Amino acid sequence: MEVEDKLKALSAAAQFDICGYSGVRDFVPSPRRFIHRAALPGGGSICLFKVLLTNVCMNDCAYCVNRVARDFPRRAFQPEELARAFMQLYERRMVRGLFLSSGVADNPTRTMEAMVKTVEILRYRYGFKGYIHLKILPGASFDCVAEGCKLADRVSVNMEAPTVQHLARLSKRKDLYRNIVEPMRWVKKLKAADERLAPSGQTTQFVVGAAGESDLDLLRTTSALYREVELRRAYFSPFRPVSNSPLEGRPPANPLRAHRLYQSDWLLRIYGFPLKEVELALGKKGELSLQKDPKLVIAENQPWLFPVDVNRASYEELLRVPGIGPVSAQRIAEARREHSIDSMLSLRKMRVVTSRAAPYIWFQGMLEWEKQASFIPHLEEPEEPAPSLAQVLSP
Ligand code: SF4
Repeated sequence: MEVEDKLKALSAAAQFDICGYSGVRDFVPSPRRFIHRAALPGGGSICLFKVLLTNVCMNDCAYCVNRVARDFPRRAFQPEELARAFMQLYERRMVRGLFLSSGVADNPTRTMEAMVKTVEILRYRYGFKGYIHLKILPGASFDCVAEGCKLADRVSVNMEAPTVQHLARLSKRKDLYRNIVEPMRWVKKLKAADERLAPSGQTTQFVVGAAGESDLDLLRTTSALYREVELRRAYFSPFRPVSNSPLEGRPPANPLRAHRLYQSDWLLRIYGFPLKEVELALGKKGELSLQKDPKLVIAENQPWLFPVDVNRASYEELLRVPGIGPVSAQRIAEARREHSIDSMLSLRKMRVVTSRAAPYIWFQGMLEWEKQASFIPHLEEPEEPAPSLAQVLSP
C-alpha cells in the first residue's frame, strides 16, 4: 500500500518532465499514470516508467508543483524500493524502460547519488539492460554526473528558461551557468573521452511561457546548445499554472506555441537550417506565427528562392520547399537519376505534400506556375556567425 501510495504521488509529479515529442496533442498516457509512451532516440517508441525519486525539493522554481513552499504531502522512495517497483512492472511487461527524475531533497549531490544508486541496482543486481533516461539534478557534483553517464542511455539537465535574466524570474536559487550549463559541458566532455557513456546523448527542457521569454530567446539558446554542448534535442513544455504558487494566476501557455517551437527546432536540428534563416519565421517581437508553420513563413520571406526546379535543384534547395522534407527530397534526388520528374502524381508518390509544394516548385509541363511565381533576384547577404552560448544566455 505504501509503495502504491508513493507510486501515485511520485509518478503524477513526474508528468511535468517531457520525454517524448509533445505536439498540439500530447502523447495519450496509458490508463496507468506512471506509464508514458516516449519516442526512442533511434526511432520507434517505448513504454517508460516515469517517476520521481522524491517530490521533496529545496528549490523555489515558481512554476513547479514540488517547489519548497508548497504545502502538500511529500514522499520519497528508497533506491532499493524504487528499483524493485520498476522490476515488478518490467516483469509484468507493463514497461520497457525507466525515466527517473527527482526533486532536490536536501542537497543536489546527495539526492543524485540516491538516483544513481537506484540505476546501479537495476543494472548490476537485476541485470536490467533496457533503456534508462536519468535526469541530472542542477548543482550535482561532477562525480555523480560521470557515474550517471556510465549507467544511463540518456541524461538531461532541465534548463527551464533560455537566459540568465529569465531564469532569475523563476528561481532565486538556481544559477544557470554553474548549476545547469556546467553539467551540460561535463556530459559533452565525458562523452568525448568515451563515446559509450550516455550513448543516446543529452537533452534539455524549457518551460514555455513561464518567464515572459520570446520564441527568439528559446530558439537562440537551443541553437547554441546544439553547437556548444552537443545537445541531442530540446523539449518545450507549455507552462501550466499550479495552485499555491507565485504563477498561479498566470494563464497557461498555448500548446500550439510549443508545437511551433518544435517545428522550428526540427528545421534547426534535422533540416540543418542556420539560425539566421529560422529567425525569418519570427515576427517583430520574436514570436512565431500560430497560424502558419515556420517553414512556410520562411519560404514566404525568401521569394527569390522559388520556384525551385525539381529536376535540377540541390538537396538543400529542395528542403526549403514547403511540403518537401528530408525523405521526399532524398527520393526526388534518387528518382531523377533514372528519369526526369514531370508530374504532380510522381511527386506525391515520393511523399511530397503537393498541395503545399505546388506554388514553390517548377518542372517541364508546369509553365503556368512559372508565370504565377513571383521572381525576385536573390541578394547575397554576408554571413554572420551565430551567437555563442555565453552571448545568448546573458544578452
Ligand atoms: S528543482 Fe525541479 S523539482 Fe525542485 S522546484 Fe525546481 S523544477 Fe521543481
